[in-house]
Amino acid sequence: MTPLGLDPAKCFIGGAWVPPTSGQVLPLLNPSDGSPLCDIAAGAGEDIDRAVGAANDAMQGDWGRSTAVERGRILYRIGQLVLEKIDELAVLEALDVGKPLTQARADVIALARYMEFYAGAADKVHGQTIPYLDGYTVYSLRQPHGVTGHIIPWNYPMQIIGRSVGAALAMGNAAVLKPAEEACLTALCFAELALRAGLPPGALNVVPGLGAVAGAALSAHPGVDHISFTGSVAVGKLIQKAAADNIVPVTLELGGKSPQLVFDDADIDAALPFLVNAGIQNAGQTCSASSRILVQRGVYDRVVTEMAARYAALRAGPARADLEVGPLVSSRQKSVVEGFLAQGSDLKQVAQGTIAEDAPSGGAYVPPTLFADVPPDHTLAQEEVFGPLQVIIPFEDEAEALQIANGTPFGLVASVWTANGARQMRLAKALRAGQVFLNNYGAGGGVELPFGGSGLSGHGREKGFEALYGFSALKTVAALHG
Ligand code: NAD
Repeated sequence: MTPLGLDPAKCFIGGAWVPPTSGQVLPLLNPSDGSPLCDIAAGAGEDIDRAVGAANDAMQGDWGRSTAVERGRILYRIGQLVLEKIDELAVLEALDVGKPLTQARADVIALARYMEFYAGAADKVHGQTIPYLDGYTVYSLRQPHGVTGHIIPWNYPMQIIGRSVGAALAMGNAAVLKPAEEACLTALCFAELALRAGLPPGALNVVPGLGAVAGAALSAHPGVDHISFTGSVAVGKLIQKAAADNIVPVTLELGGKSPQLVFDDADIDAALPFLVNAGIQNAGQTCSASSRILVQRGVYDRVVTEMAARYAALRAGPARADLEVGPLVSSRQKSVVEGFLAQGSDLKQVAQGTIAEDAPSGGAYVPPTLFADVPPDHTLAQEEVFGPLQVIIPFEDEAEALQIANGTPFGLVASVWTANGARQMRLAKALRAGQVFLNNYGAGGGVELPFGGSGLSGHGREKGFEALYGFSALKTVAALHG
């Protein structure tokens, strides 16, 4: 049972907690020691059908007729209830995802902040009046798509629910959420809190289950009008193909290989915590993790030495506040990261953290590892690892730094560390990234800041006001009145 008294083996459909049609469940494992946490519903096609039906009913009913002000008030109340339950939600997220409690608490606060932001933004999405021919008045309206499908990963369940479901509801869509099978407990709690906050039945539905079953059914469902997917590139391609059959818009938030560029004139002391934290936060399982550190020759040795010292002090262990790095989400993910580490056997490993002595033997722990002098075309400098592993790459000048930075198929986040204002402006324009940070690294952070990528990092933007445009359709109205 979850802290809100929920049975985690149920789906949330039409405002009620219902068992999956098949009666089947999936085991949810604790990544800190591999032990079973509880069973969750193994939702499938029939459950997705029911959820899409309930969402459609909501659009035809009270929810579809709700005003933006009413929706904003409900979202605000959800945010308040989330904050009231911060202790329970943080412990649950820490257990489920395996992240240190401090990070899990930050995720709860972010979820509440998303609700607050979209509560305030709901009634501020304006159309335009458009000058046209004599005798006409033309204006545009922003209206909900209808039923939106949300397929999310396990690394930041609460944050991703906040930015995607929050924005969709603010615009008046009815949402069907398929959380990840590895971590879905806070998604269920969110649904219960939304119900208690007065969200009408069917406006939000949650169907846990396997990606290839429940996720595939949702992405191919003809009753879904927009799909928001956050996850891997491989599954993103499947989602886009499924959406193509129904000609519905998709937002794809996929992976990254985000660089930080450190120039000779940078404030190295200020940069160092960002350089390291952006790689190890959430054990590196962050789409906007900075896994490549590009350093100019003049400060190269210093940065390598000081990053190595910080890495040597890092400890991976159970999701506790006193440890810097938690377990990976699953033993499967641990094997993936160990495979990447093995591919670094030809590289110069300059430091490795440790695994805490009291870490349970069944946990998915990988020591944080730092490589230097890495060729830009090496697998570890090109592919997303999704683990606590960073590579340092030297460069001579700005042109080479830009070439290396833009030299992967991804384009999610980048940062530039330099005191030279003109260089900051040049690189901010030239870097292939949806977000560029100058003398900091926000790692996708900031509820207000639009976020998304290009290339294999996906397309479309979530967060900030931009998400509200993505979750709405623009209608042009032209009146001929003479
Ligand atoms: P994943 O693609 O395996 O799973 C993501 C979601 O898709 C899960 O809910 C899963 O059940 C579902 N899914 C799996 N197969 C499916 C299918 N055939 N049809 C429909 N749905 C399916 O990704 P993951 O391993 O859980 O997450 C890690 C990836 O997510 C990384 O690549 C990371 O970069 C990316 N990510 C991106 C962002 C971002 O905002 N850009 C944020 C977090 C994670």
